[in-house]
Amino acid sequence: MQLNKNANHVLGVDLGGTNVRAAVIDRSGKIIGEGRADSKAQEGLTFTIEQIIEAVRIALAASSVPIDDIAGVGMGVPGTHKSEEGIVVWSPNFKDWNDVQLLAPIVEQLGVPAYMGNDANVAAFGEYTFGAGRGAKVMVMFTIGTGIGSGLVMNGRSYLGVTETAPEMGHHIILADGPRCGCGRYGCVESLCRRDAIIDRAARKAHAGRHTSLIEKSGHDLRYITPKMISEAAAEGDAISIETYEEVGYYMGIAVANAINILNPDKIVIGGGIALAGDVLFEPIRKTVEVNALYPALQACQILSAELGDDAGVLGGAALVLQKMDD
Ligand SMILES: [Zn+2]
Repeated sequence: MQLNKNANHVLGVDLGGTNVRAAVIDRSGKIIGEGRADSKAQEGLTFTIEQIIEAVRIALAASSVPIDDIAGVGMGVPGTHKSEEGIVVWSPNFKDWNDVQLLAPIVEQLGVPAYMGNDANVAAFGEYTFGAGRGAKVMVMFTIGTGIGSGLVMNGRSYLGVTETAPEMGHHIILADGPRCGCGRYGCVESLCRRDAIIDRAARKAHAGRHTSLIEKSGHDLRYITPKMISEAAAEGDAISIETYEEVGYYMGIAVANAINILNPDKIVIGGGIALAGDVLFEPIRKTVEVNALYPALQACQILSAELGDDAGVLGGAALVLQKMDD
């Protein structure tokens, strides 16, 4: 399918295990209209494709942009892909998505070219194109949430490796005898810094009997602690909460320092819900990086908060299409 390089808009799609979000976006990265639908991840490929199309139709209607003025659709999709072929090799949250053709039916139904990438890589490409990573020569992104996603953009291109599994910066091992990770190994960055690991760390300290305002904040039930409660308590001077983020920031800092030493980036962008903690997390990260990153790579690298929040996925999808328009 031919890419219409004269079109003024593109579509970005962010597919998640629960929802799919689509947005009509202009060439400057402005979201003109958007649509959402349930992704029906457990109902099989056909249902999910219908939901993607539904979200796109809502976005088109909301934006009043005709499909003739859409150059193409770019999608961030969880899992491992052969993206040039439109194939999802493996995506654990979607039922029976093993070597399935995702893009062909979308191209057929929408009548525009479609592109895809791993969701974390696409979000990173969004930050590179429209957010905190603008102008970087080499950008590494970490997204800290339920898990730890990552992306790497080098000289304007996402670096994906040979099997499109790079860069799994969240699963690089920083504490060889550390806690078990969701991937089955021990001591990955994710096992130490993901959302639940932060909550467990704070809860364990509180269970040891030390005074903490987290007890009151959680309604006297430590199972209900959230990272936001911990960062708020830390800002108010709660010792256990400050310690929790210092330790998590230390491990994230080791991960960031390793990325700096291996890749020599000019920007490291940190996003995801956990990064909203702000200085209480970023200060220990920066302190650890200063000790562990090598000169002069350290001096050349900025550590920045992500700017796009939840829009990174759809904007990254849009950026995939815009990049093809420039090729
Ligand atoms: Zn892991």
